[in-house]
Amino acid sequence: MNEFRADLHCHSTYSDGTYTPSELIELACKIGLSGLSITDHDTIEAYREAIPEAAERQLPLIPGLELSTVHKGKSVHVLAYSFQLNSADILDFCKNQRARRENRNKAILERLASHGMPIEEDELSSPLDNRSFGRPHIAQAMVKRGYVSSIQQAFHEYIGDGKLCFYPGSRFSVEETIEIIHKARGVAIIAHPHLIENSIVKDLLEMKFDGIEGYYARFSSEDHARWIKTGMKRGWLITGGSDFHGAIKPNIPLGSSWVGEEVFKTLHNKYLENN
Ligand code: AMP
Ligand code: ZN
Ligand code: FE
Ligand code: FE
Repeated sequence: MNEFRADLHCHSTYSDGTYTPSELIELACKIGLSGLSITDHDTIEAYREAIPEAAERQLPLIPGLELSTVHKGKSVHVLAYSFQLNSADILDFCKNQRARRENRNKAILERLASHGMPIEEDELSSPLDNRSFGRPHIAQAMVKRGYVSSIQQAFHEYIGDGKLCFYPGSRFSVEETIEIIHKARGVAIIAHPHLIENSIVKDLLEMKFDGIEGYYARFSSEDHARWIKTGMKRGWLITGGSDFHGAIKPNIPLGSSWVGEEVFKTLHNKYLENN
């Protein structure tokens, strides 16, 4: 494959993906990607392993992160790229978020238990340090216990936003999050805008973002056109990626959405300047 394709959105075993950082890089090389960014939820721990592995395989890699934030009570995912990997602002944010997630997960487990679906906390534990646990891990435990037959069912009936056993927990505001990313010299991007309700997107478009995710695995071609136009009007970067999670979302392959050379080079140069 000669066309330049860089997938800027995927998850490793440090959050809710099922491939290790090294396995992601190996797969990216195998399918002929020209560049990659691993965007775990609220942790950059994957980069310890990913940076030497990517260097060894000569795959250009950009630091990435998907931050969980809140606006008017609704969950908003913000993507960050090319930031300083040793930024205290980013590392503190991640540490804080993991503590918030732990409390939130406990509250969800309590709700499940009160509906006759007990799960022990150690059923979610893993040997990885600084890993972000989330609802997909709870959904996996529910499937294993036989409470539901699929991860989808767990979300639809019990733990999806607003469902019976959901608990949102506390998160940073979008504005605070953008500020943290900028302090770390990174770019702040609105993730998968088609998953956000219109009234919230309207507010986000007035904030100090640097870009929008215009290419995404499950966008229709009208969606692509709409978000690309929206971003271009503001002079924003248009990023894209598959949001690959491995076996957690088995029908979305790595590389099923991507950016071309120009956007990748812009972000890669920014990363090199910053690190
Ligand atoms: P959390 O970060 O714990 O709030 O969980 C959010 C993650 O759960 C998302 O990034 C998706 O990977 C996954 N997710 C959200 N909604 C669904 C759904 N309906 N079905 C399957 N996975 C979902
Ligand atoms: Zn996820
Ligand atoms: Fe997301
Ligand atoms: Fe994601």
